[in-house]
Amino acid sequence: MLKGKTALVTGSTSGIGLGIAKALAAQGANIVLNGFGDVDGPKAQIAALGVEVAYHGADMSKPADIEDMMKFAAAKFSRVDILVNNAGIQHVARIENFPVEKWDAIIAINLSSAFHATRLALPAMQAADSGKGWGRIINIASAHGLVGSPEKSAYVAAKHGIVGLTKVTALENATSGITCNAICPGWVLTPLVQKQVDAKAAEGGISNEEAMQHLLGEKEPSLQFTTPEELGALAVFFCSPAGNNVRGVAWNMDGGWVAQ
Ligand code: NAD
Repeated sequence: MLKGKTALVTGSTSGIGLGIAKALAAQGANIVLNGFGDVDGPKAQIAALGVEVAYHGADMSKPADIEDMMKFAAAKFSRVDILVNNAGIQHVARIENFPVEKWDAIIAINLSSAFHATRLALPAMQAADSGKGWGRIINIASAHGLVGSPEKSAYVAAKHGIVGLTKVTALENATSGITCNAICPGWVLTPLVQKQVDAKAAEGGISNEEAMQHLLGEKEPSLQFTTPEELGALAVFFCSPAGNNVRGVAWNMDGGWVAQ
């Protein structure tokens, strides 16, 4: 379905980003990966799906790096048709104790990076399909884009912000073939969440399994983690013709978290 398209997924060397990149690649999209850590493993997983894959190591907290990455993607594949703004970090502390540099980093990586990548991707999307425009922008928000939790001020502020950015991006392009939507996952067992499980296990002197059940029990009626594969399938739906007129939604996939 996505053969000939190019998808750039930020923060795609791990977790949800890698799951979404694989789902888009399975539909035939060429992929630009980004993120830190092991690159060869994720690259090989995408290449095994029979598409072209490239990597750019932009630090998403740095606008100049993001500009360089978008130029690199355009030079390699002519344009980015699908942009998935996924890179994100977490820090947990009460506001009065929240390190200022962590606040700045979370706002830069989880929110401002999406603004920069979007502003740089839009002109080519607007010119696509003989000027009628075609593109898909998918912002990975969170259940924390819709509701708050204590000790996550920067994360909740950034994720509410990205839901707002999603709506404005969708509205500004509403008469074109460019759609923008947000995905709001609940708990997904990735390195980002494993750190919170580890902290809970250490705090309570409990096992990893018990800590996971506590984490789920506090928020998710389903008592189940959402998987990167399930989130990838939702991203594929947004990219499909059936998603043509889905604009500006914040779609939670969260085991009932925000239904309460
Ligand atoms: P993860 O830690 O597995 O992956 C994060 C990715 O972002 C990695 O590839 C990492 O290298 C990259 N990254 C981090 N800082 C970066 C930077 N400065 N520049 C470039 N890349 C950077 O985490 P994840 O759980 O897969 O999270 C992905 C997104 O999903 C985040 O935006 C997160 O807020 C969101 N999310 C996660 C959950 C969850 O439960 N895991 C729930 C809701 C939303």
